[in-house]
Amino acid sequence: MRALVVEDDAIVAADLVAALQAAGFVADLAADGETAWFKGEVENYDLAILDLGLPRLDGLSVLRRWRAAGRDMPVLVLSARGDWTDKVEGIESGADDYLAKPFKMAELIARARGLVRRAAGHASPLLRIGRLTLDTRRLSATLDGATLRLSPLEFRCLDYLAHQPGRAVPAGEIAEHLYGIGEDGDVNAIEALIARLRRKLGAELIETQRGYGYRLAGNAA
Ligand code: CA
Repeated sequence: MRALVVEDDAIVAADLVAALQAAGFVADLAADGETAWFKGEVENYDLAILDLGLPRLDGLSVLRRWRAAGRDMPVLVLSARGDWTDKVEGIESGADDYLAKPFKMAELIARARGLVRRAAGHASPLLRIGRLTLDTRRLSATLDGATLRLSPLEFRCLDYLAHQPGRAVPAGEIAEHLYGIGEDGDVNAIEALIARLRRKLGAELIETQRGYGYRLAGNAA
């Protein structure tokens, strides 16, 4: 999962990025509103964490522009003020959730995961897809109840596919959501990753839609 952190306070931003990475996200950072708006327009994020008080363009304007342009990723708004008019305005501008500063990082991560999950139609943090169960809190997976030994990257790949019900996902798209900017992840790396996962899970659990992409078996919309 790829997250965009929009936060101009460098210390808070570094904490957010570290916590999201520990929770299995790839996190990009934007420290001002214009950069945030641009990144949110050109990249495909699974989640954005958006501070409201930002240099160059305020957070609510960023959010309204994203929504006006049809960008529909879940957005968790952060505000230093925490008063309810901020909250109402945030939600009316298209925010999916709201957290007042100061916040507990564990709560932010729980809410962030909840937003990503619900955007894919999963109510529970345990994702059950056929014989496979992914625990999105522990970043672990079982097959027919037996724990799988997966690298963090392998887990992230299964997790991303599990959040795309009913569709085959192109290798390039998987790479975008698994690797940070500047990391060496391309289509070939994804093909190798899928091959490793098939050896661990059984080849039939990851279907190939020829010429298009990959889908978890039984991951219906
Ligand atoms: Ca700020």
